[in-house]
Amino acid sequence: MATYVTQFSEGNKDQKDLLGGKGANLAEMVNMGLPVPPGFTISTEACKAYLRTGEVPPTLRVEVTMALRKTEDTIGRHFGADEEPLLLSVRSGAKFSMPGMMETVLNVGLNDESVKGLATFAKDERFAWDSYRRLIQMFGKTVLGIEGDLFSEALDEIKADAGTTQDTDLTADDHKKVVAAYKQIILEQTGEEFPQDPRDQLDAAIEAVFNSWNTERARLYRRRERIADDLGTAVNVMAMVFGNLGEDSGTGVCFTRDPSTGHGGVYGDYLPNAQGEDVVAGIRNTFPLTKLEELDPTSYAELRAAMRRLETHYRDLCDIEFTIERGKLWMLQTRVGKRTPAAAFRVATQLVDERLITLDEALGRVSGQQLSQLLFPHFDAKSGITALTKGLGASPGAAVGEIVFDNASAIARQKDGKKCILVRRETSPEDLPGMIASVGVLTARGGKTSHAAVVARGMGMCAVVGAEAMKIDTSARTVQVGDTQLGEGDVIAIDGATGEVFVGEVPVVDSPVLTYISEGIDAAEQAVEGDIETLDLIRSVDRLLRYADGVRRLRVRANADTAEDAVRARARGAQGIGLCRTEHQFLGERRKFIEGVILAETPEQRDAALDALIPLQRGDFEELLSAMDGLPTTIRLIDPPLHEFLPDLTELSVQVALADQDGGADEHDKEILAAVQRTHEANPMLGLRGVRLGLKIPGLFALQIRAIAEATVALIEQGRKPKPEIMVPLIGSVRELQIIRDMAEKIIAEVSESSGVALSIPIGCMIELPRAALTSYRIAEEADFFSFGTNDLTQTTWGFSRDDVESGFFAEYLENGVLTISPFETLDALGVGQLVKIGVDGGRRTKPAIHAGVCGEHGGDPESIHFFHNVGLDYVSCSPFRVPIARLEAGRAAV
Ligand code: ADP
Ligand code: MG
Ligand code: MG
Repeated sequence: MATYVTQFSEGNKDQKDLLGGKGANLAEMVNMGLPVPPGFTISTEACKAYLRTGEVPPTLRVEVTMALRKTEDTIGRHFGADEEPLLLSVRSGAKFSMPGMMETVLNVGLNDESVKGLATFAKDERFAWDSYRRLIQMFGKTVLGIEGDLFSEALDEIKADAGTTQDTDLTADDHKKVVAAYKQIILEQTGEEFPQDPRDQLDAAIEAVFNSWNTERARLYRRRERIADDLGTAVNVMAMVFGNLGEDSGTGVCFTRDPSTGHGGVYGDYLPNAQGEDVVAGIRNTFPLTKLEELDPTSYAELRAAMRRLETHYRDLCDIEFTIERGKLWMLQTRVGKRTPAAAFRVATQLVDERLITLDEALGRVSGQQLSQLLFPHFDAKSGITALTKGLGASPGAAVGEIVFDNASAIARQKDGKKCILVRRETSPEDLPGMIASVGVLTARGGKTSHAAVVARGMGMCAVVGAEAMKIDTSARTVQVGDTQLGEGDVIAIDGATGEVFVGEVPVVDSPVLTYISEGIDAAEQAVEGDIETLDLIRSVDRLLRYADGVRRLRVRANADTAEDAVRARARGAQGIGLCRTEHQFLGERRKFIEGVILAETPEQRDAALDALIPLQRGDFEELLSAMDGLPTTIRLIDPPLHEFLPDLTELSVQVALADQDGGADEHDKEILAAVQRTHEANPMLGLRGVRLGLKIPGLFALQIRAIAEATVALIEQGRKPKPEIMVPLIGSVRELQIIRDMAEKIIAEVSESSGVALSIPIGCMIELPRAALTSYRIAEEADFFSFGTNDLTQTTWGFSRDDVESGFFAEYLENGVLTISPFETLDALGVGQLVKIGVDGGRRTKPAIHAGVCGEHGGDPESIHFFHNVGLDYVSCSPFRVPIARLEAGRAAV
């Protein structure tokens, strides 16, 4: 029968779909012979069935009974028995880690009788009653949905009666009072008694964990991390072990390498005499792991050995949750640990050096997204500004923003376009919306493994934690450090690498990795002046990037309009220009020439206006081609609708009307107004632009083609190697391209003949309309190359205006999850991607060697790059800044 429940000893790490990450890894640790409290996992399938029907599958109850009996037999104790009771933890655990987002209930199985049994067994009455009140509180909050404040207020009252503010000062009798008060709260709030039957508790806790998949914050986290909503969570039921049984007990979290810097050597936090969430919640300040070596050398040695085994087994940095119960080590969780971008690069190359992974694998362990984060600026250490205080750098970055103390103000400020930093004593999962709305998070409590730190690292946002000198008063909305008092809205700066906190803005400097990317390894090594860690990081990035270059098939070009951009792109490893937008060359001063072309009344006037542009354009292209000497440079003929070169219709109408009232408008203005009115279109993006404009005013393309040909001749005559390619935008039918091609060939032949210089300039087109993709096999007859303009192709395939995506319904689509990701950011593989595929395949059928690439935002987007690799494109073209990211991702796509 067993379909929903798996004993830890039966599963393994590859069953994350079914057992969730936590369950699969617990099973793996059991298989490895590590000390894991016994238990079992209820699969995600059970959760899915529950969420679908609203009912626990009937067979699940039976399976749980059978699994529970086995657990009891393993330990030799009975669940919830009056003597030596077995207690359980009921833990959520989805396929992808969602730290702290879902629920866990500890100490399940305690009731009025077994609490006495636990007291005798543990020889500690206070501990037993403390555990009981924790259960009632967690159960009340998580399972019964009772407001948590009710419990903390009741606790505060009893503490006041006892004349203390510390939980730890409470006696067993005090805790009995707390238990009575808590039970009363439950009765009042639900009309029912706290369930005394251990099995009822267990069943209710399992259901609560299922339900926690769909809490507001879990949904929010999934949207942000792009985790699918229909995976469901597994439930891990395991025997409780106790870290709160005195000074020879404790609980901790550790990493096999430092997850924030990648520094080799173990790293972690330990808290003696504590249970469960105490470490991550940052409620008490923790000790570094090395302290455990003093406190309990035997357990420490055993833990170190387990860490080494786990790292060898997973061949990656692991994070581990453990508990020590009276000198006995228990492993409660492990997984391949989240890490900062810098740590990702350093650890990957360390593992290669240790011969634990191959370079191919190392490439899989880093991402373009991480590389892009390494390129962000840092605070200038030489600014001379001294830090107000210092915490732990938990997630790197340099964030400057206004202080906020809660979710609501963070969200409100973000709406106003302001940057803010969320300042909290410690964070909890409820703070997620505020963290997302902020550029950084700063806490007074907690270590590098605290909630704020873990979540921030996962999201790639800047975080400083455990800045203990801060006294935060949330009701007064102030934070005090020594004599300095700051309030909501005051600007601070935090450095997530060093942990420093500054008042006001601090100047930022380029990241050393950016220096490496743009100026090369030697310059970067000099710039870091012997900072070993940074040096190591730069070398790691260099090594993996060069390896990616060696294995990738996709070439990487840049979108660059000016010689300056071209130089920058080249320095970053661009192998050509995939898109030079020539329209930028008609703006500013030169706008009047285009006006002349549009206003011309006779063909002669128009030709004269166009001729005036030739030398200017020739100059543009000479500069560009010379910067890209020897590398292919795709120049797109003028693309945008005419109105972009003309004044706004409404504004100009008003201006002319007003001027007329005051005694007559300028004749020139009137002419322009007439032209603007004449060319006005309701839908300019679907109107007279691209090749359509080229066909309507043939002189426009002709002038550009001539300028390109002449610039090429000039450079060849200087002994250079210009490699221009002419690209025609917005082709919908082969006929359009044919006409332009005939014209272009004629002009190129003329220039070649009159100069005596042989010219071979490929002529191709953009594929950016669905019809072009669908008829690419025809278009290929006239094209030497294709370049997929996936911005326009997305716009025209979806029928979404890409100029309006920032606002309106589209933004709501993203918020409501109708779309999980903007198709303008990551290529919509299912729809637009199919057109790309049809486009390439059609083109290659007609012309097997036709060269095909992509230009537009998607060319620099990691996920999209993998798609382009898979459909067999020859290159991607992206902004100069993203060139290294594309190089890395193209390499990752190939291994
Ligand atoms: P999360 O996924 O939020 O980390 P966990 O399921 O790991 O939640 O549970 C939170 C904490 O509860 C753990 O870090 C651990 O300290 C404690 N805990 C869970 N199971 C047990 C257990 N069997 N015995 C003792 N403590 C436990
Ligand atoms: Mg955990
Ligand atoms: Mg376009």
